[in-house]
Amino acid sequence: MTILASEGVSFPITLPIVIIGSGACGLTAALAAKDAGAEVLVLERDPVPSGSTALSSGLIPAAGTRFQTSVKVEDTPAIFAEDIQAKAGGDAEQAIVDCVTENAGPCLEWLADRHDLEWVVLDDFLYPGHSRYRMHAVPEKTGSALIGRLITAAQTAGVDIMTDALVTALYAESNTARICGLQITRPDGTKEDIGCEALILACNGYGGNAEMIRKYIPEMAGADYFGHAGNQGDAVIWGHELSAATHHLSACQGHGSVATPHGILITWALMMEGGIQVNLAGERFSNEHQGYSEQAVDVLKQPEGVAWNIFDERLHYLGMAFEDYQNAVLQDAVRKADSLEDLAAVTGLPLDALGKSIAETAGGSTDRFGRNFAATKPLEPPYRAVKVTGTLFHTQGGLRINDDARVLNEDASPLPNLFAGGGAACGVSGPRINGYLSGNGLLTAVTLGRIAGQRAAELVAGHSLKLVMGGGRRSTLG
Ligand SMILES: Cc1cc2nc3c(=O)[nH]c(=O)nc-3n(C[C@H](O)[C@H](O)[C@H](O)COP(=O)(O)OP(=O)(O)OC[C@H]3O[C@@H](n4cnc5c(N)ncnc54)[C@H](O)[C@@H]3O)c2cc1C
Repeated sequence: MTILASEGVSFPITLPIVIIGSGACGLTAALAAKDAGAEVLVLERDPVPSGSTALSSGLIPAAGTRFQTSVKVEDTPAIFAEDIQAKAGGDAEQAIVDCVTENAGPCLEWLADRHDLEWVVLDDFLYPGHSRYRMHAVPEKTGSALIGRLITAAQTAGVDIMTDALVTALYAESNTARICGLQITRPDGTKEDIGCEALILACNGYGGNAEMIRKYIPEMAGADYFGHAGNQGDAVIWGHELSAATHHLSACQGHGSVATPHGILITWALMMEGGIQVNLAGERFSNEHQGYSEQAVDVLKQPEGVAWNIFDERLHYLGMAFEDYQNAVLQDAVRKADSLEDLAAVTGLPLDALGKSIAETAGGSTDRFGRNFAATKPLEPPYRAVKVTGTLFHTQGGLRINDDARVLNEDASPLPNLFAGGGAACGVSGPRINGYLSGNGLLTAVTLGRIAGQRAAELVAGHSLKLVMGGGRRSTLG
């Protein structure tokens, strides 16, 4: 991944806007640019767009939407912004927090009204740190359905998506850092150049780059990466070469509840509604209500880097609303026990310690970890248990941007024509792993994606760009 000097290079084809990455950010950016009247090309390294978006649970937080109103949820961007900053310890960049919280609702409504995406609000439990029910999902409630609907919308809107197109270099003017084009490498090793007037980086973060994780987030160096392998940190690598500013590279979303060895996400709703985590000694080790991201670190610190999620029949039925959980049941990751003795037998955990841990769920006051069980029912037989580990989902640091999604230099001035959103840009979680509020990932993907698409379209609108078609090989989807 390099920056090449653009001087003397002539491109066989030049497009107004090129977007690298076809996850939620890239496709939303493409739809917004297209709506604004700009021609756009999305470049994707994979044969089919998927990204971490397809692997995700597909939950997007937004405040003040008509979808919330329809289920009688009162919420505002200001309350949402407070929740984000409370989780981030006040260290998320306020201008970006305000930008995404104010724009998330209009973004989801625009995707519904203009591009036929449907949204439902999850109002049966609150995710850690959210003071209102504000998680929006497509009706299937999966990331794969979300990306599927975005692809359909992009195809309907006439967005060109070139797949099997790994962007391996950007061409930039040496003095100004203006991006003039890029080089793609095809699976057979052939290289092609494409010119652009504006470039949007929607190629997510560096979760798949073990070296960068060791460098920037050492506490997650031993964790399995659960996101898309193609997210190799290209945005940050190019940004550094262009002398762009990066921020909060130590931030990420971890998850402390992935079934092992099955590798299936076990919904955190089980913990929020009364479940607990114990280590191999049968003992609780944390406040499970702090957040699932930081819980990844706590679980990894336990013997063998694992924990058992302990819950009961009532919570099992709550879990069954989630496709991942259903898969975990199908794969025998979820064990059933009719009594405490059975539970000790099926998990191999010491009976006495396990009994004491379960008894804690009947406590009515704040416990030694800071959790209060007063609002949830004590666990009772029959029980369920899943062995889990801590994993890395995606990184939250990235290129510093302004509220127009423009990439900034160290002196906070914008680069001439470079935009970023989603995991490519610095998110709103501050610098720490415990700063991640559920949904911060897709929140910045769709919201900043839309803004990047709109602003890039405005930037190129002034230029009377002549579309020059040359010999480039073009394989579009659909
Ligand atoms: C298991 C899991 C569950 C999650 N659940 C949620 C959730 O419920 N809510 C939430 O908000 N967040 C969730 N997240 C995080 C969320 O998935 C990401 O924050 C979000 O998908 C980022 O979107 P994106 O468009 O920036 O990146 P992606 O969806 O990863 O898309 C980036 C694309 O860029 C492509 N690419 C990368 N480099 C290049 C290159 N050089 N050339 C060409 N293409 C390139 C990649 O192949 C990829 O397709 C979850 C993550 C995981 C792993």
